[in-house]
Amino acid sequence: MRLLRSTDLALRVLMRLAVAADAMPTTRQVAADMDVPYTHAAKVVAELQHLGLVDARRGRGGGLALTGKGRTASVGAVVRTFEGDGDVVDCEGSAPCPLNSGCRLRGALRRAQEAFFAALDPVTVTDIVADPTGPLLLGISRHAS
Ligand code: SF4
Repeated sequence: MRLLRSTDLALRVLMRLAVAADAMPTTRQVAADMDVPYTHAAKVVAELQHLGLVDARRGRGGGLALTGKGRTASVGAVVRTFEGDGDVVDCEGSAPCPLNSGCRLRGALRRAQEAFFAALDPVTVTDIVADPTGPLLLGISRHAS
C-alpha cells in the first residue's frame, strides 16, 4: 500500500514539530526543512490545525507548535484521516470491474488495508521521533531549535 504524498508530509511535519523544543518554526521553515513546496506544507499544516494536532501563532515570534494532542496522536489515526476511506483498488470507477457484485478479492484487500492501519494505531508521534530519528531530524533541519 502506497501512502499519499500529503499523508507522508503530515507525518513529517508532526515529527519535525515534535523535536522543535521551545522554538516555533514557521510553515515556510518547515517546508524548507522537509524540502517540499510551501503551498503543499501550508495545506497540510491547515489540516493538522483543523484536527487540533498543531497550533499556529501569527505575528512576530509566531510559528507552529505541536499540541498535547499532536504529541500523543496515533500514527494510524493520522494515516486513516489523510488517506480517507477509499478502497486500495478502484472497483467502481469509470470502467467498473465485472466482478464488483461478488468479489472475494475485494474483501481480502479491505481486511489487509485495515490490518495495515491497525499496525500503526499503537504508534504515537512521540514514538517515531525517539532515537535515532529525533537527533537525525534536528541534524538535517536548517532551522533546528
Ligand atoms: S477483481 Fe475484485 S478487487 Fe479487483 S477490481 Fe474487480 S471487484 Fe475490485
